[in-house]
Amino acid sequence: MPETFKAILVSRDAEKKQSVAVTDLTEADLMEGDVTIAVEATTVNYKDGLAITGKAPVIRRWPLVPGIDFAGTVISSSHPDWRAGDKVILNGWGVGETHFGAYAGRARVKGDWLVPLPQGMSPHDAMAVGTAGYTAMLCVMALERHGILPDRGPVVVTGAAGGVGSVAISILSSLGYHVIASTGRNAESPYLINLGAAEVISRDELAQPAKPLAKERWAGGVDAVGSHTLANVLSMTSYGGAVAACGLAGGMDLPTSVAPFILRGVSLLGIDSVMAPKAVRLEAWRRIGTDLDLQKLASLSTTIGFDGIVDAAHDIVDGKIRGRVVVDM
Ligand code: NDP
Repeated sequence: MPETFKAILVSRDAEKKQSVAVTDLTEADLMEGDVTIAVEATTVNYKDGLAITGKAPVIRRWPLVPGIDFAGTVISSSHPDWRAGDKVILNGWGVGETHFGAYAGRARVKGDWLVPLPQGMSPHDAMAVGTAGYTAMLCVMALERHGILPDRGPVVVTGAAGGVGSVAISILSSLGYHVIASTGRNAESPYLINLGAAEVISRDELAQPAKPLAKERWAGGVDAVGSHTLANVLSMTSYGGAVAACGLAGGMDLPTSVAPFILRGVSLLGIDSVMAPKAVRLEAWRRIGTDLDLQKLASLSTTIGFDGIVDAAHDIVDGKIRGRVVVDM
């Protein structure tokens, strides 16, 4: 009898009604790939919440094992870079969208999609970072490339108490930035200050339709929210500043004008983690290894088991999750 492992499988019926079940799979059920991995830790990202609840068309192959990121140990490999026993991380590449993902005891993927687990980091630590944290690092790297360094002035982080926001605050504050955290959950102020925020502002300040230009408040920002929030962040960015936009937790629209770009030379930096080239991923994970305080990382994450994934998926879409959720498999 082949060995079985537990998996979450999302299916769709003839009326396109989505259902979620826990099932047993074998390695023969996995999709094509040249590396098979024992999944040791995964996480629940906002996108996983959208996939499991069906609130957005994240899943584009049926049925599918969701879960966009994992860390674990290679069981077998025909890829030249990987051999049994190697510790690896996977983020994105359509895993959990079109390719069987992380919410299973085993995963089979292309070896080209994997990066090595950084020295000194456990699979659990890597998933406390997860795709949200790796994306936060991509945002920080984009700001740096644009010359937005701590001496340029404050930076704002929106969706601050969420996964991207929490890790972005930790990294930026460790690097010496004056971080302004924008949250809809004022009760989380002590948490955000503990992560390194110098100031906490209410989400409401950025929620109304934006003026073309407003008082200059920051040199740049990391935006996980989109819509009016991003429009306000842009209109309040000082001359020559830049904003890294990675998320849509508040909406996919962007009701802004060209004023911040043509009158203040502000730049909007688009951040995508899913198809980011391998060299960029390697640099982001290297920087996470050096610039993210593991104690702060522990303080921003909570741990659940496989059985808690579906509830956490609903909670993250409802905005009830603080920081990062790690799933120990
Ligand atoms: P979380 O749910 O953990 O965080 C999102 C945060 O946004 C919430 O905690 C909340 O923060 C804030 N928020 C939620 N709803 C609203 C709303 N209606 N209006 C204003 N603010 C709101 O998600 P993640 O941090 O995992 O992801 C954040 C975003 O980034 C998502 O849209 C996700 O899809 C995107 N993302 C994009 C990636 C990419 O490659 N571009 C990769 C990873 C994530 P608070 O309570 O503090 O206000």
